[in-house]
Amino acid sequence: MILNFSQFNFESSLNEGLDAMGFEKPTPIQEQAIPAILEGKDLIACAQTGTGKTAAFILPVLNKIAQSGSTGLDTLILAPTRELAIQIDQQIQGFAYFVGVSSIPVYGGGDGLVWEQQKRALESGAEIIVATPGRLIALLAGGKIKLDNLKHLVLDEADRMLDMGFMDDILTIVNYLPKDRQTVLFSATMPPKIRQFSKQLLKEPEEISLALGKTAEGVTQSAYLAYDSQKEELVKHILNQKDYEAVIIFAGTKEKVKSLYKSLKKHFQVEAFHSDLEQVEREKIMSNFKNRSLKILIGTDIISRGIDVVGIELVINFDTPSDPEDYVHRVGRTARADSKGAAITFVNDKDQYKFKRIESLIGLEIEKIPLPEGFENGPSYKEGSGGYSKNKGKNKPKFDKKKNFKKEVPKRENQSSAKGSETSMPRRENNKAANSDSKSSLPQRENIPNPKEHIPSPKKKSKFGSRSNVIDNTDNS
Ligand code: AMP
Repeated sequence: MILNFSQFNFESSLNEGLDAMGFEKPTPIQEQAIPAILEGKDLIACAQTGTGKTAAFILPVLNKIAQSGSTGLDTLILAPTRELAIQIDQQIQGFAYFVGVSSIPVYGGGDGLVWEQQKRALESGAEIIVATPGRLIALLAGGKIKLDNLKHLVLDEADRMLDMGFMDDILTIVNYLPKDRQTVLFSATMPPKIRQFSKQLLKEPEEISLALGKTAEGVTQSAYLAYDSQKEELVKHILNQKDYEAVIIFAGTKEKVKSLYKSLKKHFQVEAFHSDLEQVEREKIMSNFKNRSLKILIGTDIISRGIDVVGIELVINFDTPSDPEDYVHRVGRTARADSKGAAITFVNDKDQYKFKRIESLIGLEIEKIPLPEGFENGPSYKEGSGGYSKNKGKNKPKFDKKKNFKKEVPKRENQSSAKGSETSMPRRENNKAANSDSKSSLPQRENIPNPKEHIPSPKKKSKFGSRSNVIDNTDNS
């Protein structure tokens, strides 16, 4: 049984990175995935954000590069959104400082100057690219990246990438890769479409699955049965109960996000996060939320996946998510790593069947709590609608986790923004993160050390060359 990271026998340079990041014990997904990836096996891992999945694929890849020495572009990580790509890149920077490996985030949009910067950064050489599929295809088509010698392909949040319509893009990208590579696929859920898809890309993969409910261990989940007309007052009531430091409220559509924002901003310090915002505004809001100068964030499912903000105390589902998997992702915003959190879902009279599907998916009956004093009665939980009585514990449903639920296809705001999310582009903040002003524009991962702040020793310079090559090239372009 693995008790700490030392048992992976990582290169000392990587262990130094782990120390700097304050990682002591591997999480369950890391315990299982790291040895498999180190052995060179293809891997399908079912794990949600919050389980430590990012480090689960980054660490073994970095260790291999540390062992072999840099031989150019080694690893391609595909992620669904620019926010996730940035986060992964930042986590790589945190770990890789001593290893001396460079990574570049590649995601879409921006003006011609940014496009140029990105191309030049790529030409300057990096061992790892973290990319959203659309922009990468554009670069591949322009002959700007050669992936012929690539050794590792990682697909992060594969379910999300397929939901966002990236399947063809990914298959196109894979055509540029050598067949003799290691492929690792992480997905929060494992619907049949992912299994089918993985058959096209992976060879005799090892499979790891963390039970869906598992990340919810530290989360207290409950629900209010409430009519739509009661929901706004209910949110206010909840927010007034405690001086929360970090709350996310999910609403079903951006219109609802906007109207709830209007109502709440009179009483609370809140911001709305949705796809109508410019990238700069999105980054600013997320950055404020991460550094806690903003305490309450209202958003659509665009923030339900991938965004890693540590220490979210409360998730409120203003609307019951139509897709049970979205519930898992939303609730996964809280109780990340070892922390605790709460998730409260509002279930109106029409959404009870959706809620039952959620309970079935997670294999758990969520407690329905009575509306607070002063509120009129909400709808009762109807047995006939597929719900079950809030008062009768004996009516526990017979759960069938394997059952495939016929999916409604909710109008996902983030879907329309999927390609849109590739439309505005980073300055190459990457290594700038080590410089002065990057904090203002990038969603910062507060738990990732800024390598320059932490360990600026020039003696630690990489045996493969320092990241500064990349900095110089990007900054001068
Ligand atoms: P992820 O699921 O990769 O988004 O990670 C969720 C959070 O857990 C991130 O803030 C990570 O930095 C943190 N984390 C991941 N693995 C560990 C670990 N072994 N020890 C401490 N924190 C971790």
